[in-house]
Amino acid sequence: MTGLTLRLDAARWRMHLQTVAGATPGLVPVAKGNGYGYGLRRLAAEAEETIGVDTIAVGTAVEVAEVHDVFGGDIVILTPWRPDDELATELAGDPRIITTVSRVADLEALTDLNRDPRVLLEVLTSMCRHGIFPDELRRVRPLLEHIRFEGWTIHLPMLDEGRYAEAERLGRTALEAAQGPLWFSHLPAEDVAAVARQLGGAGAAAVPTRLRLGTRLWLGDPSSRTSTATVLDVHRVKRGQRAGYRQRPVWADGWILVIAGGTSHGIGMEAPTPATSVRQRAVSVATGSLAAAGRALSPYTVNGKKRWFLEPPHMQSSLVFLPAKETPPAVGEEVPVELRLTTATVDQIVEA
Ligand SMILES: *Cc1c(COP(=O)(O)O)cnc(C)c1O
Repeated sequence: MTGLTLRLDAARWRMHLQTVAGATPGLVPVAKGNGYGYGLRRLAAEAEETIGVDTIAVGTAVEVAEVHDVFGGDIVILTPWRPDDELATELAGDPRIITTVSRVADLEALTDLNRDPRVLLEVLTSMCRHGIFPDELRRVRPLLEHIRFEGWTIHLPMLDEGRYAEAERLGRTALEAAQGPLWFSHLPAEDVAAVARQLGGAGAAAVPTRLRLGTRLWLGDPSSRTSTATVLDVHRVKRGQRAGYRQRPVWADGWILVIAGGTSHGIGMEAPTPATSVRQRAVSVATGSLAAAGRALSPYTVNGKKRWFLEPPHMQSSLVFLPAKETPPAVGEEVPVELRLTTATVDQIVEA
């Protein structure tokens, strides 16, 4: 086994999936992008077999093909439909696909196609990403008889402050425009239940709700996985000796470790983190922002410590410096590597 390896304790992971599912009524697992490091097909299979849900969500129309034959239930496409997207338009006629629509004009265009689409209507939240302005929601009413209306989608920002109030306010406005299930994102399950009761009104049944979860579901139990990288080569170097693509002088006597994992695996390509405080900024520089002048800490741990990159990662391997006083790992040895799984692509996933 060489390269970047993700070892998955499958029993532990599945236990976590079941725990989250048990605490999340109306769960809709989100399987999009790089499949949270695991791949879309694997997530779709777990959603079907381990979690047993009736619906999953993918990010884009293109991703539907990856999950369509692995997962037998309904598939929501989270990216809103646009009239010029031919694939999404074709999929809108598939009885297992639920299309998201975020503009009144798009709903008109979609109904004109007579495909009998299943549609979720997106409400614009304080995120300002996609959605129909809350005070324009009533405009969709005459169009609803031409579609199979599946409900309203409300995608909230990740901050706690004001989130519940926004969920309730937008949910209420949406239900005044048309009755239907409320599909939330980034709202705790307790808050979803509370909104459902609140908007159901005195004595009335709670409003049906769904909750879409990705990161907290798939990646919520870090103890269920480890990731390692193969040491591909080891070289003794002297202080001042030039090395690497950039031929910069090495800063001390030591070892250059050539370790599997480069830009194509997402190594050194962290998603930007919001660095609002000085301390946070210092942390983000220290943990690998390559924009930082000079050295950057690599995600590789050798002899119990994270080590410095000698230079920015290459396409499929990285040069890492180890001081002379240390004993270097042998070629072929595996060392721990910290991966951010929403940006990583590993060479293999091994189930333990
Ligand atoms: C990606 C996405 C999610 C899942 O986000 P996580 O933070 O990974 O749980 C939920 N809802 C929408 C609309 C999304 O685009």
